[in-house]
Amino acid sequence: MDLRKNKLFIVSAPSGSGKTTLVRRILAKYSQFAFSVSATTRQPRSNEQDGIDYYFISAEEFIQKRDQDYFLEWEEVYEGMFYGTPRSEIDRIFGEGKVPLFDLDVVGGANLKQQFGDEAVSFFIRTPSVEALRERLIKRGTDSSEAIDKRCQKAKWEMGFEDKFDYVIVNDELETATKELFGIIDQYLEVQHS
Ligand code: ADP
Ligand code: 5GP
Repeated sequence: MDLRKNKLFIVSAPSGSGKTTLVRRILAKYSQFAFSVSATTRQPRSNEQDGIDYYFISAEEFIQKRDQDYFLEWEEVYEGMFYGTPRSEIDRIFGEGKVPLFDLDVVGGANLKQQFGDEAVSFFIRTPSVEALRERLIKRGTDSSEAIDKRCQKAKWEMGFEDKFDYVIVNDELETATKELFGIIDQYLEVQHS
């Protein structure tokens, strides 16, 4: 299989929508993709590895890198928590002959889509409601109740970004959402017969 035309894929959503779950499923199914590892100043969760899930760096280092134009895009997604896409990730992934897959907040996703236009395919993942999102974040058990409140508060505003994306996937039932997502990705891939 090979990519027909598009060079990169973006998945964005309010926190708790199931973005990471769906991104992992894409990576497990399609060997053409490689995950673009972002830098962040937030603390690693117990299941996260430096250099795999994120590059975990200090706020000082982040600001220094930002000022050196190290990031393709960056956002202070939550107060005091910075996230950015190193430009070097694109070179690394293209160097491996793969297609970059970005997991970004809705502002970063819309920003990258604007930069890359038709060369990017962008997905907005959403839950049926903010309440469903809250329940998922509580069940995930990785964030404090204050952090969950902040994420849900911001989600209401983030929902307004969905029309800036090429596709909106409603992640109500996970298997249905996965099928829908894979169906769209398949349209951008072609089987090469030898
Ligand atoms: P995000 O990366 O958008 O913050 P996650 O992928 O971490 O979200 O998902 C948040 C939580 O919700 C996780 O515990 C995940 O297992 C769960 N989850 C994902 N999709 C669904 C779904 N369709 N129904 C119920 N729970 C889900
Ligand atoms: P989390 O703390 O839950 O891992 O991520 C919080 C939010 O930041 C998520 O919406 C995630 O997609 C987003 N994010 C992760 N990396 C980046 C990045 O490099 N740039 C931007 N703009 N957002 C990012």
